[in-house]
Amino acid sequence: MTFELRSAEVIAVGSELLGSTRLDTNSLFISRTLASLGILLKAKAVVGDDRALLRDLFALAITRSDLVVVTGGLGPTDDDLTREAVTDALGIPMSEDEAITAGIRNRFARRGMVMPALNRKQAMVPEGATALNNPNGSAPGLFIIAGEKIALLLPGPPRELQPMLNALCQPDGLLGARAGLARLHSVSIFTTGLSESHVEELTQPLYARWRDAPEPIETTVLATPGQVELHLTLRSGDAVGAKATLDDARGELVKALGLFAFSTDGRQLPHVVGELLQARGLTLAAAESCTGGLLMARMTDVAGSSGYVRGGVVAYSNELKVQLLGVDQAAIETHGAVSEPTAAAMADGVHDRTQADVCVAITGIAGPSGGTDAKPVGTVVIATRVTGHPLSVRTHVFPGGRDMVRFQATQTAIEGVRRILLAASAARP
Ligand code: AMP
Ligand code: MG
Repeated sequence: MTFELRSAEVIAVGSELLGSTRLDTNSLFISRTLASLGILLKAKAVVGDDRALLRDLFALAITRSDLVVVTGGLGPTDDDLTREAVTDALGIPMSEDEAITAGIRNRFARRGMVMPALNRKQAMVPEGATALNNPNGSAPGLFIIAGEKIALLLPGPPRELQPMLNALCQPDGLLGARAGLARLHSVSIFTTGLSESHVEELTQPLYARWRDAPEPIETTVLATPGQVELHLTLRSGDAVGAKATLDDARGELVKALGLFAFSTDGRQLPHVVGELLQARGLTLAAAESCTGGLLMARMTDVAGSSGYVRGGVVAYSNELKVQLLGVDQAAIETHGAVSEPTAAAMADGVHDRTQADVCVAITGIAGPSGGTDAKPVGTVVIATRVTGHPLSVRTHVFPGGRDMVRFQATQTAIEGVRRILLAASAARP
């Protein structure tokens, strides 16, 4: 039987997944694994242990997607209703598979136990379905072909589901053999310094065009504070052609975004800037107040950062700004700890003490308290001192709560270093 599997939906079953402590993680694994076969996850749902609700959700999903994966609810207990709900929707009968019952009985026997009668429920197989071996548990999975659609029922525990799905996706597996040659190919672009809508404004005219191509490129824009990402995905059976198409598309987007695009290969900003420092033989030091070492933590998260990071000072209190960085007490009293003169003195101070080529200082009000009319919460002053360049000092007001303000402060500071280094290389003859 040949029909193409292009789209899928996941239904995660379990009342525990609707509470406040447990999250459906199976769908993330399923999405990634199906993508490797060129099958795009179009929708997912979480539903409690409710037979009628699951039946209705499944019935809708199977009309609009080629593959519906239902996870959970295959256990032996009363609240495990997936088999029943799915066969309700498909209108097919079930019968007990004695071989499966024997297998479950053996699992119990190996542990010196007698199989409870309840477990016979797990041996019920819908007519025409294939039962799937579960090496890590008692609940077999079920593979059901319904017209030109497939329903795949897998147990909820990730350690049971994952090897089962992997086996199905092998070239000779029930899904792998049906998947055809198309695969999902993707590239990404990371930007910083632009809002989501600015990124959209610059790039939408381009990607709107690609959406209508015979092999359309899907674009998703993912915004986080301090970073907007573009992800391009193309479904194609021609890997070389897809790569060329995506490379071209990415090139056009990068041109439209200019210097705001800092990464086209998945590397995060600290990594990109670290490599710039390394390539130029420059060292980095920082004096941090409101970020409490976050800038250094992010820079040293990158393997190999000892090649360029000298270190830094967390000078949270005014006393330590004076003692460790040599900031003038009078300047703090006159202008405040969060001020351009103080930030500049912090950068100078850390430079005097470390002799690093690139010195960054951050001082600000991360909130939630401490803001004033003149210096509201989110006010952050960043000073960047790069040998051979004029000192750069800028005051920013970042939106959001404490975490967001602190993250954006480090992102902006690291980006500031990148801009200075790039301007320096552009100016070079
Ligand atoms: P079940 O197959 O419904 O008996 O699920 C058994 C256990 O698997 C649950 O208690 C969860 O710990 C885990 N589980 C079920 N569904 C999921 C899911 N969607 N994501 C992650 N874990 C799950
Ligand atoms: Mg359950």
